[in-house]
Amino acid sequence: MTEQDIDRISNIIRTQDILRRHDFNFKKKFGQNFLIDHNILSKIVFAADLDKKTNVIEIGPGIGSLTQYLLEEAAEVMAFEIDKSLIPILDETLERYNNFQLVSADVLKVNLKDYIQKFEHPEYPLKVVANLPYYITTPILMHLIKSKVEFTEFVVMMQKEVGDRITAVPGSKDYGGLSIAVQFYMEAETAFTVPRTVFVPSPNVDSSILKMTRRISPLVEVIDEEWFFKIVKMSFAHRRKTLMNNLMQGFGKEAKPEIEKLLGNIEILPTIRAEVLTIQDFAKLSDALIALK
Ligand code: SAM
Repeated sequence: MTEQDIDRISNIIRTQDILRRHDFNFKKKFGQNFLIDHNILSKIVFAADLDKKTNVIEIGPGIGSLTQYLLEEAAEVMAFEIDKSLIPILDETLERYNNFQLVSADVLKVNLKDYIQKFEHPEYPLKVVANLPYYITTPILMHLIKSKVEFTEFVVMMQKEVGDRITAVPGSKDYGGLSIAVQFYMEAETAFTVPRTVFVPSPNVDSSILKMTRRISPLVEVIDEEWFFKIVKMSFAHRRKTLMNNLMQGFGKEAKPEIEKLLGNIEILPTIRAEVLTIQDFAKLSDALIALK
């Protein structure tokens, strides 16, 4: 460890000192687990591959442990923090950085597009790098994707189990609506896994860092994106049921002959389960079933 590393916000002695002086109490409801490991933080920043012509959005800076590393590598960092009691702490810990903007807000309630214009160079490529609050990982990812902001990449820490669902392939037990929702727009891979010991307090789940790179255009072309996701959701409604049974539950029993005919046209067996279908199969399926819209 160099002298500079000892001075890091994430250094356990410094973290404890900051928390004590500000009389900070961890709030479980906000999923607060702060990173205290220089090695893991360096690996996250390395995976994010930042430079002084890349902007970063961070969700949940906490006391600034990860933020400090991001500020040193990126052009600017804009961080959204829901817990107001962290604001005076961040004012102190990140005082010496002039490329930092803090937004005191629930990230799910902001229109991200409005904020992008507040970067000094909004034209720079934009990445999301964060140690996400685990209780709302999926809503945050969906909020980012649906914002239609042109992020080039997400490098984010999450509960390992959620990461496994995002990167899952057809036929595996983790494959489902979440895998498809993310992989439709992004190429997703696990960068590395993280032990529980690198946080205070230590969470009771394992974590992994996912790297998701935005595709130039969605993985498959569909007639109607909203309809596509509706069909995916319907197909996975009951994992043990066949595709036909799930579709019949969604469209009503009377639609059975029509569904059978449409499935026959695209050569998908009604007796299979949704988990064996690729995203390309779902595109064919939703385009065929548009006749029932
Ligand atoms: N980045 C810090 C680190 O790595 O040490 C803290 C990460 S901690 C897992 C998650 C952070 O997200 C907390 O600071 C928490 O207060 C914040 N948070 C939780 N829900 C949020 C929301 N809806 N919007 C913005 N921040 C949120």
